[in-house]
Amino acid sequence: MIIKPMVRSSICINSHPAGCARETDNQIAYVKAQKEKRGTKSVREGGKGPKTVLVLGCSTGYGLASRISAAFAYGADTIGVSFEKEPTETKGGTPGWYNNMAFDRAAKKDGLISVTINADAYADETRAHVIDEVKKLGRRFDLIIYSLASPVRTDPDTKVLYKSVLKPQKKTYSGKSIDIMTETLKESSAEPATEEEIASTVKVMGGEDWRRWIKQLTEAGVLTDGCRTVAYSYIGPEQTHQIYRDGTIGMAKKDLEQTARDLDGQMKASVGGAAYVSVNKGLVTRSSAVIPVISLYLSILFKVMKEKGTHEGCIEQMERLFAERLYTGAGNSAGTVPTDSEHRIRIDDLEMDPEVQKICTERMEKITQENLAAYCDLDGYRHDFLATNGFDVEGVDYDKDVERMDVID
Ligand code: NAD
Repeated sequence: MIIKPMVRSSICINSHPAGCARETDNQIAYVKAQKEKRGTKSVREGGKGPKTVLVLGCSTGYGLASRISAAFAYGADTIGVSFEKEPTETKGGTPGWYNNMAFDRAAKKDGLISVTINADAYADETRAHVIDEVKKLGRRFDLIIYSLASPVRTDPDTKVLYKSVLKPQKKTYSGKSIDIMTETLKESSAEPATEEEIASTVKVMGGEDWRRWIKQLTEAGVLTDGCRTVAYSYIGPEQTHQIYRDGTIGMAKKDLEQTARDLDGQMKASVGGAAYVSVNKGLVTRSSAVIPVISLYLSILFKVMKEKGTHEGCIEQMERLFAERLYTGAGNSAGTVPTDSEHRIRIDDLEMDPEVQKICTERMEKITQENLAAYCDLDGYRHDFLATNGFDVEGVDYDKDVERMDVID
C-alpha cells in the first residue's frame, strides 16, 4: 500500500515504517559524526562514559535521542522502555515502534546490547522486568534517563487512573495558535483547571513515578557507585507561561524539579550518585505538537534560531547534553555538571539567549495571517511535525508500495 500522512486536529495518526527508520538512522549518523569530531572514546576504545543505561521513554523525541547518544557516542549498552502500538502485517504501528526496530538493528550491527521493552513504565511489573533484565546481563546501571510523556498514569498502589490536562491556572487563557497543515492563524482558548485537574496532572507528569523507579532500582542493588539520573523539563518564554510553565503541566514540571533535588540527596547517600533535571529546548515531538500557542512560538523560534545558525533538534540537544554537561571529565567520564541556582542543567541556553527571545517576543506581538510566512518557519515546523511520524524524510520513496507494515526495510 501507499502510505500518506493522515493529520487530524494537529495530530498525525499514522506513520511510515521506512521513514521512521530513516529518521532514526539519520540521528545515529549525526551522533557518530559528532563522536569523531569531538574525539569521544567509546567504552571499547577505553572511554569512561556511560556503560549501562536505562532509558524510560526510549522510542521517540528526547528519550530516543538520549538512547542514541549513549549508545553511539559512548558505546553504552542500553535497556529502553516505551509504550507503543505493535504493527501487524497489514496494520501500522506507532512511530516509536519502528524507531525502536531501527535502533535495535543499528545497535546489533555495532555489537551493542539493546534490550527494548514495550510495556507500561508506570507499572511495578515493568520495574521488576527491567531489574530482571539488567541482572541477567550481570550489569548495573550508571545512567537512568527519565523521558516519559504521557496523558495518563495508573497509580500502582491504588490502581486509580490519573489524566494530565493542558490548562492554565486561575484565569482563562486565550491566544493565537497555528494550524501548520493549513498555515492559518487561529484563536485558541483554555478554561482554568480545577484543583483536581492540577493534582491529577502532577500525578502523571510530576516526579512521583521517577522516585519510585529510583527507589526500586536502588533496593534491587542495580545502580553503580556514582550512578546518575536525569529527567527532562521545559521553561520557555514569558508568552507561553500562562499555558505552560504556570499552567497544569508547569506545576508537574516544578514537582519533577523538586524531585530531582530530593533524589540528588538520596542518591548521594545511597550510591554516591546524583539526580538532575535538564531543561531542554522546545521542539516538535509527538507530545508538544498538541499544546496551544507552542506551535506558533516554536515556528517563530525556529526561524530566528535558523537565521542565527543556532537551531537544534532533539538529537543535537541530547548529543550536547551528554558531551558538554554530563560527561565532561577525563576520558569522557562523568565530570562536574554545570547547573543553575536551582540545580537544573540548562541545555535550553541557545533558545533562551536574550537576543533570540527579544526577536521572538517582537514577532509574537506583531503576528498576523499576512506576515505569518515571513515570521514563521512554517516549512521547517511542518517538516519536523511530519518527520516524527516518518513522513517528509529525505531519501524515502513515498510512492513505493509498502508490502508489510511490520518491517522497516
Ligand atoms: P515523546 O512523546 O516524543 O516521547 C514520550 C516517550 O514516553 C515515548 O517513548 C513513549 O513511548 C513513552 N511513554 C509514554 N507513556 C508511556 C508509558 N505508560 N510507559 C512507557 N513509555 C511511555 O515526548 P518528548 O517531547 O520527547 O518528551 C520527553 C520529555 O521531555 C518529557 O518530560 C517532556 O516534558 C520533556 N520536554 C519536552 C520538550 C519538547 O518541546 N518536546 C521540551 C523540553 C522537555
